[in-house]
Amino acid sequence: MSERFDDVVRNAFDFLGRSIDELEKHPKYSVIHFYSAIELFVKARLLKEHWALIVMKPDQADKAKFMRGDFQSAGLKEANERLTKVAVDGLLDEEWKCFEGLRLVRNQMVHFAHAAQGDGDDARKEMERIVADHAKGWFYLHRLLTGRWAKHFADYQEATQEMDGRMRKQTKYLEQKFQLLMADIAATKAKGSHFMDCPSCGFESFEVGEAVWVGVGRCMTCGFASPVLTLDCVNEDCAKPIPLVGGYEWCPECGHKYTPEQVESVLDDDDKLRRTDHHDPDDLSHAGCGNCDGYETVVPLDTGDWFCTDCFDIEEHVGQCDWCGGNSTHMPEETYLSGCSQCEGRLGHEKDD
Ligand SMILES: [Zn+2]
Ligand SMILES: [Zn+2]
Ligand SMILES: [Zn+2]
Ligand SMILES: [Zn+2]
Repeated sequence: MSERFDDVVRNAFDFLGRSIDELEKHPKYSVIHFYSAIELFVKARLLKEHWALIVMKPDQADKAKFMRGDFQSAGLKEANERLTKVAVDGLLDEEWKCFEGLRLVRNQMVHFAHAAQGDGDDARKEMERIVADHAKGWFYLHRLLTGRWAKHFADYQEATQEMDGRMRKQTKYLEQKFQLLMADIAATKAKGSHFMDCPSCGFESFEVGEAVWVGVGRCMTCGFASPVLTLDCVNEDCAKPIPLVGGYEWCPECGHKYTPEQVESVLDDDDKLRRTDHHDPDDLSHAGCGNCDGYETVVPLDTGDWFCTDCFDIEEHVGQCDWCGGNSTHMPEETYLSGCSQCEGRLGHEKDD
């Protein structure tokens, strides 16, 4: 089955390459191919669990037909649901929203005319939107391929890095927009704001707080917004101010690889954590994350918010599960029966008996 996996991944890279090549002359096909690539990478990951899972109706899956490529495959929604349920390795909320958004844009392109061709202002704006969309899609895809899904795509790390270089060059289309924003950025800076290189488009227009700061950064050029931790890189030889967009991300300056534990100690050293009372069992110093299912990765900030040192989700509340008694963010309703991110509730318990 691994040859089928390799076929799908090679196709996915091929579509990505085409989406870059076609951007200027055939923006419509660039959009269509970019989304196809995203969907193929998600399916390839699903294929690693079981081949029948990428067939639209797994109960009717026929292996001979599958090997011939004669089957209707699952869409992004089904693929993600199966990855989440079967492999507990689905897309995070922000990844899902981004990929689903790209799917909707692809559908519009297939059915309606598009404005990205030509020399007019509308064409330029449309082109900028496409490039910003693709930069963001690639940001999340790259993070999956080199992070959570890295072991499944181990043979493709070099291809991923090469593609990263090509995708980053593509953001040159946003240069003009960035130039036009420079005066605004300078004025905002003068009022005390800070800007760093955008993790998605690379331009220095990503507005963040200063020194060690947890919050949502926003890029004025490409519109990318994400919770970030800004800090001086912990690698002493680097020590540059950087934005980090996840607990397992790399320093964009020196390549130092972070861990959620390191993120927590940066927050601790900088007094960003709310001091908790060890003697009070209700005063939690750690909780589970309902976004990434991290175990005890959520810490209380001095602002009163809760922050996941793995997926960087910022939440106002932590809830308690009626079944396991554990505390986590995004606590669903009816936890006694169906459980939380850390347990399967009474129903899961009965199933095991
Ligand atoms: Zn940007
Ligand atoms: Zn560094
Ligand atoms: Zn998390
Ligand atoms: Zn629970």
